[in-house]
Amino acid sequence: MKTIDKIYINGEFITPEGTEYFDLINPTTNEQLGKVLLGNQKDTQKAIAAAKEAFKTFSKTTITKRIQYLQNIQTSIEKRKEEFINVMIEEYGGTKQFATISYAYMLKGFESVINLLDTYDFTKTMGKSEVQMTPIGVVGIIIPWNSSNVFICSKLSTAIAAGCTSVIKPSEMSAQQTQLITECLHEAGLPKGVFNIVNGLGEIVGAEISRNPDIAKISFTGSTNVGKIIAKEAVNTMKRVTLELGGKSPNIILDDANFSEAIPLAVIAAYMNSGQACIAGTRLLVPENRLEDVKKIIKEVLSNTIVGDPKNETTAVGPMVSAKQYERVQNYIQIGIDEGAEVLIGGLGKPEGLEKGNFVKPTVFVNVNNQMRIAREEIFGPVLSIITYKTEEEAIEIANDTTYGLQAYVSSSDEKRAHKVASQINAGRVQINGIGHDPMAPFGGFKQSGIGREFGIIGLEAYLEPKALIR
Ligand code: NAP
Ligand code: MG
Repeated sequence: MKTIDKIYINGEFITPEGTEYFDLINPTTNEQLGKVLLGNQKDTQKAIAAAKEAFKTFSKTTITKRIQYLQNIQTSIEKRKEEFINVMIEEYGGTKQFATISYAYMLKGFESVINLLDTYDFTKTMGKSEVQMTPIGVVGIIIPWNSSNVFICSKLSTAIAAGCTSVIKPSEMSAQQTQLITECLHEAGLPKGVFNIVNGLGEIVGAEISRNPDIAKISFTGSTNVGKIIAKEAVNTMKRVTLELGGKSPNIILDDANFSEAIPLAVIAAYMNSGQACIAGTRLLVPENRLEDVKKIIKEVLSNTIVGDPKNETTAVGPMVSAKQYERVQNYIQIGIDEGAEVLIGGLGKPEGLEKGNFVKPTVFVNVNNQMRIAREEIFGPVLSIITYKTEEEAIEIANDTTYGLQAYVSSSDEKRAHKVASQINAGRVQINGIGHDPMAPFGGFKQSGIGREFGIIGLEAYLEPKALIR
């Protein structure tokens, strides 16, 4: 049993004033791993004050110095690879495959920001004026549990690059993962107060970050509902917000696609991170006259998709993060059945032999129409809805008939055709014939998938205020 009873403020591990503990539960076995002592409103205020003080000098650091700090953090993270992968498997139930990719993304986040700093011009000329891109101030970083340390690394690295200081509120369910990254960040030797990390509840620590007038900007990843609460509170002090919210990503398989490649890829897109991914391709749009082929291929793919202990190299789908998330996913499977969709594979209950953990049967629904709740709401588990279309125009219409717009997928053997279809989809990112990540390209959502973008120049500029000097 591990007890995490420190938060990180002003360059030190300190005991929070908060007195409440939260139990850390292993999602694979539902045994208790440990507990974490939660920070309260006062702790959050202390963290914000430290970041405010540090901003005075950190905002004036040179680019060379910032690059050095970013490299120092990278070096500290590189030393502890196995620990990062193992703690994500143990505490979150992330599969070994996913935890390994996540670890690589943590490092890539730093690499791409360093590359950006090598070329980005903080002073520009616009019209006749000099425009200075100045650090925005203290940033509040609020993140969920589904890729905790990846989010910390991508958001914090951008804040550091911009010359901002930060207060981070991770999910309390990620406390052991947070402890490890905090140790690495501490080792990197940044000036005190540049980053502060407070474990605690959203309603307490998150709410104080949203309210406090000394926070200039919030970078949030999580549910659309909480994103709306944060944005409403933030506007009182005119905080800038970057919100990365939910999705219900369409995956259009055009009739000329290579189905034997596109369908297995669609399963990966739907079940990545055990379905707990905002970018998961959860609506599979297939030509009506090819439905039987699709069913056949998908059954074959699913028969080879291993659900189980996330420690095993071959496991593709692990447990849900918590019993609550398991119940949420079960509830949606029941809703799908009640709405008249047909369970092609999977369904309610736990897979045989995996009764102890929060395991869900990877589920595929057919006979789904796009108005059903399972086609409209983010489930955040391994549940895929197959929807048929008659024409390319109809496929695009269904893809865009959603309140979300984070990511989409298009497959076709004709690159030009795929490009034409992709250009008509209202989503922040459209993946053509594959699944990839470009850390220099913007990431973020249309419509209720969020506000603003992360990564690349657009992501960096979200941490900067332009100031025009007119002469
Ligand atoms: P969430 O409720 O949106 O929480 C995300 C973060 O916001 C957590 O750190 C949370 O703290 C904090 N928070 C909660 N209430 C807050 C408030 N009033 N003010 C400020 N911060 C607040 O997400 P979740 O509970 O982890 O998951 C619930 C659902 O959200 C999932 O089932 C899924 O549908 C969706 N989700 C989406 C993404 C995504 O990447 N788009 C990621 C995760 C979850 P606490 O942890 O203390 O609640
Ligand atoms: Mg929550």
